[in-house]
Amino acid sequence: MPVLNKRTVLIVDDEMINRRILGKIVGDDYEVLYAENGKTALETIRRQPKTISLILLDLLMPVMDGFQLLDVIQSDDQLRRIPIIVLTADKTAEVRSLRAGAADFIPKPYDMPEVIRARVSRSIKLAEDSGIISATETDALTGLYTREFFQEYCERYDLYHPDDSMDAVALNINRFHLVNALGGRSRGDEVLCAAAEYIRSLVQGAGIACRCEADVFLLYMPHRESWQEVLDSLTTAICQAMGQATLSVRMGVYPEADRSVSVAQRFDRALHVCNMHHAGYQSACYFYDNHMYRRELYHEQLIGEMDAAMKEKQFKVYFQPKYNITGERPVLAAAEALIRWEHPVLGRISPGEFIPLFETNGLIRRLDSYVWSETAAQIHRWKDQFGISLPVSVNVSRTELYDEQLEDELLSLVALEQLEPQELHLEVTESAYTEDDDQLIDAVSRLRSHGFYIEMDDFGSGYSSLNTLTSLPFDALKLDMRFIRRICDSEKDCRVVGLVGEIAAFMGVPVIAEGVEEYRQYELLKELGIDMIQGYLFSAPVPPEQFEKLLLSPEWTF
Ligand code: C2E
Ligand code: CA
Ligand code: CA
Repeated sequence: MPVLNKRTVLIVDDEMINRRILGKIVGDDYEVLYAENGKTALETIRRQPKTISLILLDLLMPVMDGFQLLDVIQSDDQLRRIPIIVLTADKTAEVRSLRAGAADFIPKPYDMPEVIRARVSRSIKLAEDSGIISATETDALTGLYTREFFQEYCERYDLYHPDDSMDAVALNINRFHLVNALGGRSRGDEVLCAAAEYIRSLVQGAGIACRCEADVFLLYMPHRESWQEVLDSLTTAICQAMGQATLSVRMGVYPEADRSVSVAQRFDRALHVCNMHHAGYQSACYFYDNHMYRRELYHEQLIGEMDAAMKEKQFKVYFQPKYNITGERPVLAAAEALIRWEHPVLGRISPGEFIPLFETNGLIRRLDSYVWSETAAQIHRWKDQFGISLPVSVNVSRTELYDEQLEDELLSLVALEQLEPQELHLEVTESAYTEDDDQLIDAVSRLRSHGFYIEMDDFGSGYSSLNTLTSLPFDALKLDMRFIRRICDSEKDCRVVGLVGEIAAFMGVPVIAEGVEEYRQYELLKELGIDMIQGYLFSAPVPPEQFEKLLLSPEWTF
């Protein structure tokens, strides 16, 4: 590591002459702060608890004496780590002050400056080393630091190098699970050790590194313009060590990481850019930039404001009609409830923006509860007002299927609104089914056994294989919009849609095509035997009052 910045020593003594002498003795090696009694000393310490490395403390002082200050500091978790050397001419006070938590003592008068300097430096070193050792745990496999220790070390580094410009770097070995699967765990371990070996040599003398989880490493290093060379050498090092040319690494760099955010957050950003990209076959380096920063701020804002927005009813449920096209004319057959956020300042925010965000932090659950109950209430009102029972589907996010209360909540909801479960359709995205997670499929099956009608959403965007499709629980297939978009121009897409229609017919479930915008698409889909259509051709999602017009004249005329 480069030479550390000067540490700070606080001298507490009521006599000016003593302060001066001590200041002169330690002033070359340390930044010095002064206080003339315990009270002002405490104020200084509380203002900057992290930057003071040591306190030289006189015992006899007016206002608040040395023993009182020792007491306060020892009973404070944050301050206790600061070593205190007591200044005293009284032999009997030594034992008492050591008992009270002093690290050492220096006898008055101060006639041996070398001894004083040595004691100060030793106490600081001991305190710092013990700080490090208490958190230390090196990773047993690679000998690099653990993440917890690494983080503390970085924080400490920042403290002593406030002006260094540092990069936060995350490294991830591509397709590491395959190394384990193909070569066995021991081969996986060898790769990790080879990577660690290189990383160790890289940070030696300038930087800090850790293994943070399985095949992920973090580096905190002085800023460099390009990381390509490091990436290349690391790749070469592990390929050579393993005698295998196909290993590669991806790297996420948060360059000149902002010191005003926590160390943890800085590395989260590096990890985020690293994980944003799928494992390729070549080593690659990605950077966290300002654009991402602004997005992050924007997302923080949305997360922070969601609660208030719910209370203020900024969220509105819109409805988009689904038309049955199997007859002569399209007939209104169902609808989908879609959330809208009308933000007083930001205007209308697309669900494509906030839904994925709320899915990653669990906020989606409360929002969807709101959408579901608004929707159920709306179905009930339409039945009451117009005597029409129109099934409406709501979206259920994958994460919500893990929720044990989901079933009960939906059942009480339909009971409350005096609906049959069949009137509330649930859209579950195809990718939930293909996650190869029996728990999710069980959850869908249970909902279905209560009579809820399940639509597999975005079909074609995931990777359902045709042979498992027949065993999955659903009542309708919603074709992903992307197929529809090119259906008129791409013969291949057109054939795929036809094929899906045939499979669905074989399984006895209807197919819904969404994102239909043009009449030509409608004609083609009708020809291909698709059952239902949802899209701008008929209507965008609209507020309930507007939807009622469609409800009252359910047959569509072009
Ligand atoms: P999705 O479930 O696939 O919903 C269909 C999306 O396609 C909606 O976007 C809808 O407005 C849009 N759309 C409908 N017809 C057309 C068309 O003809 N052309 C084009 N270009 N788009 C059309 P929206 O409302 O922006 O919602 C986006 C996604 O956000 C939804 O995709 C769904 O995954 C999610 N979402 C929306 N509302 C909710 C909700 O209340 N809960 C949950 N969990 N997710 C929701
Ligand atoms: Ca949907
Ligand atoms: Ca969809």
